[in-house]
Amino acid sequence: MSAAGRHFSVERRCASVLDSSVMAGSVDLRALSRDELATFVRDELGQPAFRVGQIWRWVHARGVTSFDEMTDLSKSLRAVLAERCELGTLAVDMAQESSDGTRKLRLLTRTGEAIESVLIPDGDKLTQCISSQVGCALDCQFCATAKMGLRRNLDAGEIVDQVYRARALLAEVEPGRRITNLVYMGMGEPLHNYKEVVKSLRTLTDGDGANLSHRRITVSTVGLVPGIRKLGQEDFQVNLAVSLNASNDEVRREIMPVNKKWNIAQLLDAIREYPLDARRRVTFEYVLLAGVNDSLDDARRLAKLLRGMKCKVNVIPWNPHPEAPYKRPSGAAISAFQNEVRRLGLPVYLRTPRGDDIDAACGQLALRPNKSESELVQLGTR
Ligand code: SAH
Repeated sequence: MSAAGRHFSVERRCASVLDSSVMAGSVDLRALSRDELATFVRDELGQPAFRVGQIWRWVHARGVTSFDEMTDLSKSLRAVLAERCELGTLAVDMAQESSDGTRKLRLLTRTGEAIESVLIPDGDKLTQCISSQVGCALDCQFCATAKMGLRRNLDAGEIVDQVYRARALLAEVEPGRRITNLVYMGMGEPLHNYKEVVKSLRTLTDGDGANLSHRRITVSTVGLVPGIRKLGQEDFQVNLAVSLNASNDEVRREIMPVNKKWNIAQLLDAIREYPLDARRRVTFEYVLLAGVNDSLDDARRLAKLLRGMKCKVNVIPWNPHPEAPYKRPSGAAISAFQNEVRRLGLPVYLRTPRGDDIDAACGQLALRPNKSESELVQLGTR
């Protein structure tokens, strides 16, 4: 084969391996898996294998935003990278801090869409809630993000870079503070963007990269049964959270249209068959909506549905937003529901609203105008 022919076929192979990571002829290094990076470095850059680890660490452990920072690479290699690649860095458009210490980041993709990511401190723990899509297609009636519809999937680079931008912000405002836990509970349905989400999980848990622990990562799903089954077959395990939100099909169908496709019985079957390792439990999320799903009968039906499963229940009192007709139950109703579920033998936790005042709480991520300009911390990184 002629040199030109060979070059062509390598390029073709790379283009198909790299697919969405290739933007306007330039390769987004942040969006590549380690194997894809290795192929690119070897076949496209003609560089020795040890460069792969060097570049990977700059991109994922240090989260650099320019090739100039890659100081253990030669100037000429940095120039080649700058010409042929990009780093898929999200622009920090805005960072807000809530009175309870929760921080919300608004980040812009290179194509100009805004996404949101939230940092939630809790003692020594610092949990980051990340987005997997711009908007969401699932149309849960109580959720603000649903009102946007699905604009597009995020690619793996855009998912992982949320963590790197949050780390950079922390280095500025709270040096030494580390992100300990990660939840895929921001905008979007992670299992509706399966491929990129799984790729991002592999990247974020890579020991030479962000090095987050599988045990401290949770993927939350609306209940896409085929996605749950597929996730169960992967060669790694993360924690699984399932948004149940109702104790019977009638109510669940009404508030979560996905229930028309996979009902509660089908969903619970998939979860029973999920190969959960011995130390883990599935989390069932249950958004409490006054007069809709918060009665003591609901609590009893819920306990009956989940009896015998290795699980815990996370009760989330509904966080209000103007587009939905619901109400948060009273404190007394919330306690009564929780106590009844507990009395019937299930571990139950209350997820207290965090970052409520800056619309950072569950189901409030929808890029609404801010409540108070004075809460804004402008970072000037745009
Ligand atoms: N699509 C995924 C992850 C995003 S939603 C999922 O459905 O699990 C994260 C959690 O917030 C879900 O449990 C969802 O039911 C809940 N939620 C959505 N809107 C809410 C609101 N307004 N108040 C409280 N919880 C909400």
